[in-house]
Parts: sequence; structure tokens; C-alpha cells
Amino acid sequence: GFNCGIVGLPNVGKSTLFNALTATATAQAANYPFCTIEPNVGRVAVPDPRLDKLVEIGKSQRKVPTSLEFVDIAGLVRGASRGEGLGNQFLANIREVDAIIHVLRCFEDDDITHVEGGVDPVRDAEIIETELMLADLDSLEKRVPNLEKRARNRDAEATAQLAVIAPLMEALREGRPARTAIPKGEEETVRRLQLMTSKPVLYVCNVEEDSAATGNAFSARVQARAAAEGAAVVIVSAAIEAEVSQLEDDERREFLEGLGLSDSGLDRVIAAGYGLLGLRTYFTVGPKEARAWTITDGTKAPQAAAVIHNDFERGFIACETIAFDDYVRYEGEAGAKDAGRLRVEGRDYVVQDGDILLFRFNV
Ligand code: GDP
Repeated sequence: GFNCGIVGLPNVGKSTLFNALTATATAQAANYPFCTIEPNVGRVAVPDPRLDKLVEIGKSQRKVPTSLEFVDIAGLVRGASRGEGLGNQFLANIREVDAIIHVLRCFEDDDITHVEGGVDPVRDAEIIETELMLADLDSLEKRVPNLEKRARNRDAEATAQLAVIAPLMEALREGRPARTAIPKGEEETVRRLQLMTSKPVLYVCNVEEDSAATGNAFSARVQARAAAEGAAVVIVSAAIEAEVSQLEDDERREFLEGLGLSDSGLDRVIAAGYGLLGLRTYFTVGPKEARAWTITDGTKAPQAAAVIHNDFERGFIACETIAFDDYVRYEGEAGAKDAGRLRVEGRDYVVQDGDILLFRFNV
């Protein structure tokens, strides 16, 4: 599965958001730094209105959404790259996630201690980014001597790695995150380096309840910074989301409308996290269940089948494919087939977002 790590300074609302996302009380929110010492992992259903439509048309008994994992990572403080606070443990947890959700405190509350003395989300973002960049630079510098030695002995792989690492180190030394310097076509090599600042990042502005619909002056500053970086921003009130997560669907809609919100901030965070990871969804529909499955962009049919079961990939013969819009327009599989909109595709077919698939395979 794919996961997003929730990071940020202490007391910005990470645990509150994580709890709301997973609607459990396991990651307890408390008004002191380092209350979340172990990384907490939660699996969250990805809301997708298309799946509701498929359940209806396919008359499926059950709806099974796809999921995304969130990891609540203990608070980082200034100096973490030198081992301050939870330092190294924290950094090790971040290295393992696929994307970063960076929670920024955009609410004022004199009762809740701010470790840096006052609310300033852009400064906070820079503190964390700096720690992550220092740790990334350190980890690359440690690898260089060994790679150089291998390169001198005509190790082609080491030579290639050095060529990828060089621009990353240059960027980090100049105070730019590694994600700004990934050589074209080397995304996979860079991913294997497990750098923190090469991962995609989403800023979540945690605002007070009154600003949940509009944002505030703090979140506006974050948005300006994010726009310059090409990063996405979601504005939520973690406190509201914590309440909303306890409500049933109908109550929830009413509650959100009362606050001038069209959808829950959690749904927006989940959708943004899914987008951040470049994930795509395909569906399977039958009388028993309609189900959503996650693949990455560019995945071919046999590998898409492997998400359901490894045997499906090994014995792959073909897949029957209907695009989502056709499935809806012709009211299901039979209609789409009659209209000539059901295609049979082979092992080179690149699965498209929204495809309804039926795999044919040998066991
Ligand atoms: P973490 O250290 O980043 O995980 O922060 P927590 O989620 O534990 O929150 C720290 C404190 O801030 C808790 O007392 C929360 O109830 C409070 N808090 C979180 N979000 C908000 C918010 O939007 N508004 C206000 N006033 N308090 C919040």
C-alpha cells in the first residue's frame, strides 16, 4: 500500500488530524510536545463518488473502497537533524513514507503552547524543511566516498549514482529541497535514495473553526509560499474534523453546511494525498461487490491484476475493459457490450483511471 506521513512541529494539530482521519482514539491529542512517540499508522478509505455510482448500476451488494495509509509521526523540533527532540527516530520514520503531509499551525490559542513562541506557519515550514534538508545532505555526503571509490574501479552503477546525486547535493547546499533537482528520468533512482525532501509534499493549514471555509491571513501566506513551490495546500480545522468524524453521514452533511463547507476537510486531505502520490483507480464490479483498486500512473494490465492477486499476473491472458463514462452511459456491462464499448485488451494495455476491468487468466 501507499502511505502519507503527517509531520509538523509539536502542538500544530497533527494528532488531532490523524485521529479524525482514522476516527480512533489511539493517537491521543495532548497539550505537550512529544505526546505521539510511536508512529501511529491508520488505514483510511478513499472516498470516490464513482464507486457509489457503480454499486447502483451494478446492483452490487457491497461497496469496497480503496485505501490509503496515514502515519502520524512524532513532533520534530529545531535541531532534529543534529539529534534534538526525537531527532533520528523521527527522521527514520519520514524516510519510509511515500509522501509528506506537513501540518502547519494557523490558529491562535494562548492555552496551547507554541514551541517557537508564536504563530508563524511560514517560519515553521522553513524550520522543518531545513532540518529535513540538512539530514538529506548528511545522508548523501556519507555515501559519496564509497561511491567514488567504486567509480574509480570502473563500477558503472556507482558512476551513474554519483551523476544523479551531484545535482541533489548542489540543491541541498543552496537551501533547496531535493525534489527541485531530480534529473529527468531518474525518479526511481532518486526514490531509492530515500531522501525526505525528494518526496512530494502537501501543506495542511490548521485554522480555527471560524476560518475553516475561508482560510485566514496565516493560511494565505502559506498558500503564497506553496504556489511559488508548486505545492498543494488544503485548509482544515482539525478541531472541526475531530467533531465531524464522530457524526453519521446525514448529521455530518448538515453540520458542514451550517459552517459553510461543501465537503469535509478530511475528504479533501485524503483526495489530495492520493493525488500527491500520482495514484489512479480502477474498478471491478460484480453482484457481490463493487470495488476500487489503486495503481500508479502508467501501470499495465498484468501488473494491475497483481494488485488483486499475484496469480492474476502470472496467469494473465487478457482483460475486458469498459471506461467509466461508457459504463454509466450504457447502464452497465451488458449495455456497454451491446454498444461496442467493451474492449478486450492484452498485456501491454496501460490501465486508465476509472476503467472497469474483468481479468481473464489461467490458474
Ligand atoms: P500535535 O502535537 O501536532 O500532534 O498536536 P495535537 O493534535 O496533539 O494538538 C495539540 C493541542 O492543540 C491539543 O490540545 C489540541 O486540542 C489543540 N488543537 C488542535 N487543533 C486545534 C485547532 O484547530 N484549534 C484549537 N484552538 N486548538 C487545536
